[in-house]
Amino acid sequence: MFKREKSIEIQQNRDVRCAHGKVAIQGIGMSVYSFFVDGLLIDTGSYSLSQEFQSFFKELSIEQLALTHSHEDHAGNAAWIQQHKNVPIYIHRDSVSLCAEDGEYPLYRQALWGERPAFVAQSFGDTLQTNSAIWDVIETPGHTTDHLSFYNRETGAMFTGDLFIQTKTKVVLDEENIVHTLASLKKLLNYDFEVIYCCHAGFIEDGRTKIKEKITYLEEMEGAVKQLFNKGYSVEEITKAIFPRDYPITKASGEQWSSKHIITAFINQFKQESLT
Ligand SMILES: [Zn+2]
Repeated sequence: MFKREKSIEIQQNRDVRCAHGKVAIQGIGMSVYSFFVDGLLIDTGSYSLSQEFQSFFKELSIEQLALTHSHEDHAGNAAWIQQHKNVPIYIHRDSVSLCAEDGEYPLYRQALWGERPAFVAQSFGDTLQTNSAIWDVIETPGHTTDHLSFYNRETGAMFTGDLFIQTKTKVVLDEENIVHTLASLKKLLNYDFEVIYCCHAGFIEDGRTKIKEKITYLEEMEGAVKQLFNKGYSVEEITKAIFPRDYPITKASGEQWSSKHIITAFINQFKQESLT
């Protein structure tokens, strides 16, 4: 069995309590956040950190749970919340039935994040009401098709789930569509926000600037990919040209995480454009 190193740290950023869970296994370390504001819990962290996150949840008067998407590192403790807090759990309509079953994930993800036990969720409306704010529930597909972001109209805080993570994305999960990610990042700019709360990077004070930087980074990459594509380069050749480095996660995940998925999504877009 794998040995996991685990910890949790609670921080307060403005009106938001941020629980920063960390898990490391064989030298690969990851962070995941859960947020609490105005009676609302946003994401639950991973089951591998269930004891750590439970100590956070126990101190809170949680009235409802909003999930940005169904991945095991976000919804891993939703079943515990259901059993111990008995509050409504909201997720994208397309994931309600998925969450009624235990999650199935490859071994390397189970090792890092643990299981995602089944729970009963309901779908969101267009907005969400907490004690002192109305929130926009924003469809932001890309990382997954069911991905949502949450905007607090009262404080202007934006909760971005796994939409941002970092500026210079180098590898993505096979189910991520970077073309959709880029469109979702642009969509967020329609809202009046500065700070973001990211589920893997935490509180980012200049979040709007960071999101703009990510948009620029991806657009420049898109341009570079297009040039090579028009010259007739293959996916493999373009990937090697844009991402000369190999990332350890690519091999460790059996290529579920790879730079190639970024290139493939751009190329599929170009092919579609040339058909219309
Ligand atoms: Zn995710």
